[in-house]
Amino acid sequence: MTQTEKTMDIDHLIAALGLGDRLGGEGLAVRTPIDGSVIAHVAETSEAAYDAAVARAVAAFETWRRVPAPRRGELVRRLGELLRAHKEALGRLVSIETGKILEEGLGEVQEMIDICDFAVGLSRQLHGLTIASERPEHRMSELWHPLGPVGVITAFNFPVAVWSWNAALALVCGDPVVWKPSERTPLTALACEALARRAAEGLEEAPEGLVQVVIGGRALAERMADDGRLPLVSATGSCAMGRALGPRIAARFGRALLELGGNNAAVVTPSADLDLAVRAVLFSAVGTAGQRCTTTRRLIVHESVREEMLSRLRSAYAQVRIGNPLEPGTLMGPLVSREAYEAMEAALARALAEGGAVDGGGRVLAERYPEAWYVRPALVEMPAQTEIVRTETFAPILYVLTYRELEEAIALNNAVPQGLSSAIFTTDLREAEAFTGPAGSDCGIVNVNTGTSGAEIGGAFGGEKETGGGRESGSDAWKAYMRRVTSTVNYGRGLPLAQGIRFGD
Ligand code: NAD
Repeated sequence: MTQTEKTMDIDHLIAALGLGDRLGGEGLAVRTPIDGSVIAHVAETSEAAYDAAVARAVAAFETWRRVPAPRRGELVRRLGELLRAHKEALGRLVSIETGKILEEGLGEVQEMIDICDFAVGLSRQLHGLTIASERPEHRMSELWHPLGPVGVITAFNFPVAVWSWNAALALVCGDPVVWKPSERTPLTALACEALARRAAEGLEEAPEGLVQVVIGGRALAERMADDGRLPLVSATGSCAMGRALGPRIAARFGRALLELGGNNAAVVTPSADLDLAVRAVLFSAVGTAGQRCTTTRRLIVHESVREEMLSRLRSAYAQVRIGNPLEPGTLMGPLVSREAYEAMEAALARALAEGGAVDGGGRVLAERYPEAWYVRPALVEMPAQTEIVRTETFAPILYVLTYRELEEAIALNNAVPQGLSSAIFTTDLREAEAFTGPAGSDCGIVNVNTGTSGAEIGGAFGGEKETGGGRESGSDAWKAYMRRVTSTVNYGRGLPLAQGIRFGD
């Protein structure tokens, strides 16, 4: 693509998605990882503008919480329709802004559509409980009410899907959303804001300020963490970010929903269907250039199938087409930045120093894209689970470890600080159940015969330990966006006290 064609493409997408009014000027430069060029400038949000945005969200909450939940669902239904209509344009912009292949950019928008559908159904199912009271003529129940404006902070690698997991649920739960996207991906965020605004047009119950985007970096994220007007802050990104923001939110007794780093393992057992295992591990290790929180970073393979598995994986790796993510047939696009490339190189050097044998890695396509960071994915055989293996490096590095007994594999799976996703490849029922059971994998996501990445929206998404403990998306994750009320109604004429206590009678 020539420079002119590229500019026309971006201009076309910006016009199609209606995000023009916050672009231009001297603001934040947005680069595409595809060739490193600046594709737009976006105005950063000033402190005063941030305060005004949260004030609008607080005012919007006053109205929105009184709107019946199924009517709130109507807003999300309209958003889902608009996303369907703009899937191509938004998916392409996701690819341009993140460097992920177009197929994955489109998949990300499909995920947004799916969560909107889910949330529309949910808007009629925010069910409470009735609870048996120990007192006569008393009714106890549990009610769920809107919580308040939700602050959402997101990472670059899923620039729109993670917001939609939060926003679709928050909106049906009665909460406005103030969103700070990654400073690397403000364009797709502004596109979503524009679509959400259009969804609200003509819906008379929907106040202004339900969905707002604020643009900035760490200082802005810290402001949100400290802001008592945001009873919930949902933050997705590195463990370092969670470590910085979590205590600040806790200090004001705010609610934090943390979705942090992963260091996900796939265990390949002697009974595994190796064809399937190779395909699954390839997608999970190399997809999105190893830049998913659920990327497979560790392969824990039984000694009896190690050579076979590795030789098949090496051939599969050799066939991965690396290149411009917008071109058909490309399976792996670039890393997001020079820093990401340097982190990958440093990790490989450290793995070597810790006794590893490195196959792959290194920069490619540097002549064609001197300002972009394309790499070969790396397979690294390690003698043990050393410090570098226990670290999340956001790049396509797959460390290979060997085991003899399943207990050993489970122990290795669990012996990292993060606890997001895990998988076992086996046709042995006992092994599968042991891995998914209470003494098995300690992760939030535990899969059998499918890879660590590529979750569906119907389940709750998130992980344990340094992954932060938050759950988003499906199942009952919506409860994080509401406040729980236990209500006791006495419809009798007497005043029996709980626990049979007599007080002055
Ligand atoms: P990042 O931590 O650099 O940035 C994420 C967000 O937090 C951005 O909006 C950024 O501005 C903000 N931020 C970063 N450091 C901060 C700090 N010290 N104080 C305040 N705010 C800060 O992450 P990234 O490079 O954009 O994304 C990759 C990371 O995100 C990986 O660790 C990946 O595993 C994780 N991630 C997790 C999930 C999940 O659901 N668990 C999903 C996607 C990405």
